[in-house]
Amino acid sequence: MVENLNKQQLEAVTSNSKYVRIVAGAGSGKTRVLTTRIAYLIEEQNVFPYRILAITFTNKAANEMKERISTTLAEKGLGVNVSTIHALCVRILREDSIALGYPKNFTIIDSQDQRSLLNEAYKALDIDRKEFTPGSVLAYISGNKTAEVDVEYAFSLAGDNMLQKPLAQMYEFYVSRLKSMYAMDFDDLLVFTKNLFKEYPEVRAKWQRRYSHIHVDEFQDVDNIQYAIIRYLVGADNHLYVVGDPDQTIYTWRGANVDIIMSFEKDFKDVHTVILNQNYRSTNMILDGANSIIINNKNRLKKELFTENKSDKKIVHYSGAGQEYEANWIAEEINALIDRGVNYKEIAILYRANYLSRALEKGLLDYKIPYVIYGGTRFYDRQEVKDALSYLRMVTSGDDLAFTRVINNPRRGIGNKGMDNLYALSSSHNITLYEAVKDFDILTGKARTESKKFVELIERVKLIPSEQIDVILNTLLKDSGYLKMLETSKEDDRLENLKELMNDIETYMKNNPEGSLEEYMQIISLYSDKEQYDTGSYVQLMTIHAAKGLEFNYVFVAGMSDGVFPSERSLMEGIAGLEEERRLAYVAYTRAKEQLYLTESAGYSFVLEKMRSTSRFITEIDSDFIERVGAKFENKTKETFPRPKKPLVNRIKKLDTSGIKLRDGVKITHTTYGDGVVIQVDNGVATIAFMHPHGIKKLVEGHESIKLKDGV
Ligand code: ATP
Ligand code: MG
Repeated sequence: MVENLNKQQLEAVTSNSKYVRIVAGAGSGKTRVLTTRIAYLIEEQNVFPYRILAITFTNKAANEMKERISTTLAEKGLGVNVSTIHALCVRILREDSIALGYPKNFTIIDSQDQRSLLNEAYKALDIDRKEFTPGSVLAYISGNKTAEVDVEYAFSLAGDNMLQKPLAQMYEFYVSRLKSMYAMDFDDLLVFTKNLFKEYPEVRAKWQRRYSHIHVDEFQDVDNIQYAIIRYLVGADNHLYVVGDPDQTIYTWRGANVDIIMSFEKDFKDVHTVILNQNYRSTNMILDGANSIIINNKNRLKKELFTENKSDKKIVHYSGAGQEYEANWIAEEINALIDRGVNYKEIAILYRANYLSRALEKGLLDYKIPYVIYGGTRFYDRQEVKDALSYLRMVTSGDDLAFTRVINNPRRGIGNKGMDNLYALSSSHNITLYEAVKDFDILTGKARTESKKFVELIERVKLIPSEQIDVILNTLLKDSGYLKMLETSKEDDRLENLKELMNDIETYMKNNPEGSLEEYMQIISLYSDKEQYDTGSYVQLMTIHAAKGLEFNYVFVAGMSDGVFPSERSLMEGIAGLEEERRLAYVAYTRAKEQLYLTESAGYSFVLEKMRSTSRFITEIDSDFIERVGAKFENKTKETFPRPKKPLVNRIKKLDTSGIKLRDGVKITHTTYGDGVVIQVDNGVATIAFMHPHGIKKLVEGHESIKLKDGV
């Protein structure tokens, strides 16, 4: 078990300290050390597997870790709880949400449900959705929740401002509707767990007894709320083991706080810190190339990382005449790799933003290259799957969102008028829409008979034991006429997806003999992609954010134009924004083991509204480690290779030093975002609530674009 470890890794795996921190660069074996540590605890220290908790960043990473543990330990490792922080919170809340006034089978709503709720709010409050777009309202709500700004405080921040007050009203509506449905969104899962631990010491103590050894991977991207939850889990007797790389912090835009790993020893005494400095993943060309860009970040701790994996294959920079050339070149290069015996699944294409996949997909399709996109339309978000899940929700919670989705699906003749009557009844009697249909007789004609049948079906299915999820779903879909509707209109793809859902349910039932419909519903609401693709032979496409912690033999990073990567928006945020983008580039490059390709194209970009130019994250790479291919380089001499005349980075550095000091509650005005109120200032970064549509932003305190409201 410990034979394939170097000296520092061994030290980290066998440490006797209660608190251990591993800080090390990409590919140095952090995740491997963490999994080996878990095996070591079980095998050598006789720790019971079910007392071990490991927190990872994504479901994909959690699955990989589970696999690694079961390869080493077989069934001995089964009881270890490896999960994302959200999944952990669901587990905690399922047992203890009663304390917060929520039933065990609370509903978790996803982004589609959130939007349906907003639709209700626009109508009820008579607010213009063009002026206050769903995206900006959701960003406002999420920003408030994570900054712990409650509805009341949001109203006081908004005052009588015409642009702010409607947002606060939407927030109020949203929160109270969720509460009335006993539903939580993803932010709530974290915030509620934290509050639960904060307010109920006995609940906290119970969970501290549950897990004696707690491990956290990717600790550099933990935010304050997540950290608070972790700290509550660590009582006087618990062990905490954290690993991370400050150079890979890529979620500060969502609240990640790199100071947490850097000043870990402030909160925990006698921390054993281990530094790993050998990279086992990449060739020297890739590693040195990645290092040559990350050193441009001023705000970082220097780390030395070396590799013994010498190679003469330089990083390849391709520049095409347009996007289709770029996609085709990638496709041809992939075909050349396949001819050399490489498997599709060893190849990944990464990009900065989701929209970039479209052009790439076209190329792959033209060349008949099989591919899969992670983080595309979620399986569970597809229309028919969502419908089926809403039918299931009629059985578990009977909430209004599920009801409005299925009541006329298939058609049951309930028109706008009928719906309005139901809404009126539900609000006057403080009952759900479903209860309004069930307990009152206000519909007429076809709507009346059909809705009676609907109620009869739901009530009948409620009597089926909740572990028979397959029977429940089958009965609902058949007897409601939903399947018939799809069959009649020959919706074969949709029927296929429903079969896949049934498959998923059967797998769940097999793996969780004690499971229930309620638990199944909660678990799947956290999944963002289908795992079935993992075993297939596909080229994998994903955003760089989704590639965190993963590795591939061949990595293409596409769309390497300034403004795309680094993104235009990040550049507006000054040096902090640019440095986060550079860390993201570092993450992207260090995913590659054998060969790294960076591609871009010339021409006009409608997204950027200007001609594309080469990303600075290419030009920053030391020329010893990179070679250039493509017509652009072959026809012209090196001197005419276009570089940005005046690198933006210099301009931004200057902007950063205007030096206004901010504090909570101060009103400011920003050249781009307009008026705002400072919510928090932390280490030179101000969290500011701006007016619609900008919402909450984190900005460098002394940025020149920020002026005090009274004109100082
Ligand atoms: P990241 O920062 O990207 O998350 P990491 O530090 O977690 O990277 P791992 O994924 O654990 O790195 O390891 C990178 C690769 O190096 C893996 O394929 C792992 O199996 C391999 N590796 C790690 N340590 C050793 C070792 N001592 N001997 C051989 N291979 C190793
Ligand atoms: Mg890792």
